[in-house]
Amino acid sequence: MHSRIEQLRKELSLYNHKYYVEATPVVSDYEYDCLLRELQELEAAHPECYDPNSPTMRVGSDLTSGFVSVAHRFPMLSLGNTYSLEELREFVERVEREEGKTEFVCELKFDGTAISLTYEHGRLLRAVTRGDGTRGDDVTANIRTIRSVPLVLQGEGWPDYFEMRGEVIMPHASFQRLNAEREEIGENLFANPRNAAAGTIKLQSPQEVARRGLDCFLYYVVGEGLPYQNHWDNLQAAKGWGFKISDRMQKCHSWEEIEAYITRTDGERGALPYDTDGAVVKVNDYAAQRRLGSTAKAPRWAVAYKFKAEQALTRLLSVDFQVGRTGAVTPVANLAPVQLAGTVVKRASLHNADQIALLDVRVGDMVYVEKGGEIIPKITAVELSERTEECVPLQYITHCPECGTELVRVEGDAKHFCPNQEGCRPQIVGRIIHFISRKAMNIEGIGEETVELLYDSGLIHNVADLYDLQPTMVATLPRMGAKSAENIMRELAASREVPFERVLFALGIRFVGETTAKYLAHHFGSMDAIMAASEAELAEADEVGEKIAASIKAYFEDEKNRSIVERLRAEGLQMVEAEKEVLSDSLAGLSFVISGSFVRHSRDELKALIELHGGRNLAAVSGATNYLLAGDKIGPAKLQKATKLGVQIISESDFETMIGGEGVAVSTMPAEPAKKESVPEVVQGALF
Ligand code: NAD
Repeated sequence: MHSRIEQLRKELSLYNHKYYVEATPVVSDYEYDCLLRELQELEAAHPECYDPNSPTMRVGSDLTSGFVSVAHRFPMLSLGNTYSLEELREFVERVEREEGKTEFVCELKFDGTAISLTYEHGRLLRAVTRGDGTRGDDVTANIRTIRSVPLVLQGEGWPDYFEMRGEVIMPHASFQRLNAEREEIGENLFANPRNAAAGTIKLQSPQEVARRGLDCFLYYVVGEGLPYQNHWDNLQAAKGWGFKISDRMQKCHSWEEIEAYITRTDGERGALPYDTDGAVVKVNDYAAQRRLGSTAKAPRWAVAYKFKAEQALTRLLSVDFQVGRTGAVTPVANLAPVQLAGTVVKRASLHNADQIALLDVRVGDMVYVEKGGEIIPKITAVELSERTEECVPLQYITHCPECGTELVRVEGDAKHFCPNQEGCRPQIVGRIIHFISRKAMNIEGIGEETVELLYDSGLIHNVADLYDLQPTMVATLPRMGAKSAENIMRELAASREVPFERVLFALGIRFVGETTAKYLAHHFGSMDAIMAASEAELAEADEVGEKIAASIKAYFEDEKNRSIVERLRAEGLQMVEAEKEVLSDSLAGLSFVISGSFVRHSRDELKALIELHGGRNLAAVSGATNYLLAGDKIGPAKLQKATKLGVQIISESDFETMIGGEGVAVSTMPAEPAKKESVPEVVQGALF
């Protein structure tokens, strides 16, 4: 075997896993595409090395455990791609050679993650990821939360059973908000909106998916009985059925028109509110598509022209190290101002020490900066030909730039931390600012500057001190009068009514964001129960993994934190979850784990029903589990564990009997589709 071929296959398989499954790529798309191209060329020159499992032959798989995998009726393929206009032109010429004068459709290549939506009788039946192209993960519950995906179709003319293919994307605004929140709670950031979208549709919590603000563009209709015999007209019809179809599509009849579309799109894409990484050129007519056919990996009637990311070259002047409220240190590059995609860039993110080491970036280097969906651009490479001897390797700081404490780095964490929570100014002030923020205690009358003033003048040292403030003390601060002091007192008093879940979030425990706080509050019901819980018990709450559980435990083990909580309790803040709506107490004291897919309810509906009848949901089977509610295709590990621990295994109908029949208060939609028979041989507009 040709050793370079073997090496490339190994390397690309690893990159695929990082990209599709872990949603954390380790090389740029351009680098990946160059390596793939090299492998393709070597394989063509060495047919004796043929392997149907080579990354050149297969669609990179996003299949993950925790989801039911479903066979695609029609394979979901990738697209051939090129970064060269010359090669794109060759594609157009090849098609015209085979087909004569051809109508093409040019579209944006959305940079997200592919999805297949099946509709039956005008209703969304299920949503499945591309997976390995043959089978994908069923992510219906998550996709239902995307507002632009119609659950019920409008208009008329849609076939009784058909599929829409498209791309789930995370618009820039959602991406920036999500990363800002993650940064706030000390969580690792998503590298770009594509990874954020791919990671989000694989979450186990549709509520969290809903909160993250995904969007979905549809670009292909597949099925029998479609109203038209071409791609364009069917997409226009689908717009009338309620799908989000891009307006930036164009029919083209010559190479010149295609080239003009590409030049215009490349110029305009920086202003779009979402990422696009290229343009897709497709043959419009279905009969021509069928004649052109497809390879195992991609159709031969479509190709993607990929834009190289827009870059600017500038000098790295210095690196600042910022300390956040969780103590996380972020290196930020100061750059010689440079024009990039319509704005002047002066700062860029360097993320963490690993990133700096990976890039081997040095002060004085000429560096490439790129903008994705991020607010501040990032440094992606160094121009080594411009490196001078004065550019010495960057020493990552060992001590906090704010308080001088030695930094620590925990295994598995990308960032360095300042452990001096009690004495490091940006951490203390940051925690208080977090506590008063709108989503936490909502005491915004104080404002960030006032917090700094209150802290610097020695009036407050922690969040509990806020409640000891006297109006006369506040009124003496610069830019504060009696009236603003009164407002602050009123807001502080009103914050005693803020629900428990927000009080918990306001404490600023690392990794405990808004949603996690909600789940914890819901699961445990009170601050006391959370404080008393072991790590294993904490990890039983939804969305709480080992890392979060350890962080909560560490927080409450600290005497100072416990004393702050006690002072807040004495001030009358909510420490218990308000009464929940209940339909009955038929499941009181019983705990359930749900696994598999069900016929009459989605998993979320079942969870809601368990709580409405007084029961408790657990994420994993343990000795504390009373019942395993098992559906179709239940995870074998869960089943095995339940059997071993003697946990009773019940079906959906057993469960309905337990809560008094089917009389349920939650809407019911079939979770599993009625099975369709066979795949027809010829499908209109097939195979994507
Ligand atoms: P792709 O993303 O290059 O193109 C195919 C995909 O484009 C389709 O599956 C669909 O999801 C999407 N698409 C967006 N707009 C579309 C439109 N209008 N019409 C049709 N499809 C549209 O291919 P891929 O197989 O998803 O991924 C392969 C690419 O991903 C590689 O070429 C590489 O750039 C990148 N990748 C990068 C790494 C890495 O480590 N950086 C690893 C694996 C893959």
